[in-house]
Amino acid sequence: MIASALIVDDSASQLSILEAQLADLGVHTLVKARDGKEALELLNHQPYRFQLVVTDLKMPVMDGMQLIESISDTGYVGAVAIYSSLENRVVKLAIDLAREHQVHLIGNLTKPFEAEHLLSLLERAGRIHAMAMCSGQFSKQKVLIESIEKGLITPYFQPQVDSHTLELVGLEILCRIKAPGEMEFLRPELFIPIVEKHGLMDLLTYKTLEQALSDFSNVKSDIPGSENLNISLNVLPQQLTNDKLPEMIATICDLAEFPKERLIIEITEGQALDTTKKIMTLERLRIAGFGVSLDDFGTGFTNMGQIRQYPFTEIKIDRSMIQNIYDDRVSQVILNTMLELSDNFDLNIVAEGVEKEAEFNYLGSKGRMTLQGYLISRPKPAEELGRWYSAWLRQFKQSGTSS
Ligand code: C2E
Ligand code: CA
Ligand code: CA
Repeated sequence: MIASALIVDDSASQLSILEAQLADLGVHTLVKARDGKEALELLNHQPYRFQLVVTDLKMPVMDGMQLIESISDTGYVGAVAIYSSLENRVVKLAIDLAREHQVHLIGNLTKPFEAEHLLSLLERAGRIHAMAMCSGQFSKQKVLIESIEKGLITPYFQPQVDSHTLELVGLEILCRIKAPGEMEFLRPELFIPIVEKHGLMDLLTYKTLEQALSDFSNVKSDIPGSENLNISLNVLPQQLTNDKLPEMIATICDLAEFPKERLIIEITEGQALDTTKKIMTLERLRIAGFGVSLDDFGTGFTNMGQIRQYPFTEIKIDRSMIQNIYDDRVSQVILNTMLELSDNFDLNIVAEGVEKEAEFNYLGSKGRMTLQGYLISRPKPAEELGRWYSAWLRQFKQSGTSS
């Protein structure tokens, strides 16, 4: 048997009848939606909240067919039952659609329906739910989402140094999550698509920033010059459609007493900044005082001409261009142009993914920029930054490489 169901019908009276009958059979959490759209919004937000979705087929805005088509995109893995007085031909169509979209359609409650029929549907829904609970996919996703909600996030920090003085100038926050009982940290490429699918990217961003500023504050006395360090936060371009983003990030900085002008918001270049809304939010972040950085430059949509149309304060050149740059004429020309641009437009240039000594030396011989990569330091938890920085400074004082 099951404890929670979502019922979807545009008729209030039908909803009440079904609600009363389900409650009688022990389903104590009942949520109602008036059409498919409302149901999808609820499921997108909390895909694991319900064990059964009962839907009418004929509804305004979004009908039951469209709901069946899209329901598995929300991450919902439980059973679906339909509830309609439409003829068999339409019901058969719904069954085909469900099969095509891997939806567990468990039956049709023809209106008016018998209590016994409802009971057997609930039993079937219970079995489907138990099966889903056993599947690794479900438990992994569920644990991940709960870990974010509970704030079990460990921000790692990757140091960035000045290419001329070799001093630490910034730290990029790179998010890691360790779910309870797991030995290994999960890497972002694994969890970000799941977090995105569940509509929790903003929550992840806020929790990551909050935790990062708190961890940084605990160790800043171990890091010489920490009062001048920039901290960079990654934000997906699609998050710029959220009006509240600048305000929320500002509040988190204020609460942590971290100056806004030292926080840099990195936007990946993989997706075009295609709407006025996204560009407006970028402008508002800038107006609020944050730095804004174009991440992974060279992999996406922006060309050098476009950079000037946006309020970027920094460009991060992707590691694919930095790799073997000492030996690659094309990358060298692009870097030179970027450095010229940086002089004229007051942009900071960051070279990412510096792994080899030869890359490091080549970049150090060029105009001033910021360097980041495994050669300098791998991302690490805050408590290891002080020790890393002492070792880094010692290494360069001894070798005298610093210019
Ligand atoms: P990114 O922003 O381009 O971050 C740099 C990635 O390259 C990091 O991977 C870092 O560990 C790795 N890296 C740094 N130096 C080197 C190097 O010398 N060689 C190589 N091969 N790799 C290097 P990570 O931590 O796995 O993060 C992957 C991506 O996930 C990040 O790429 C960023 O786009 C995203 N990400 C991480 N944390 C967050 C977050 O809190 N929010 C969002 N929206 N995205 C995040
Ligand atoms: Ca980044
Ligand atoms: Ca990057």
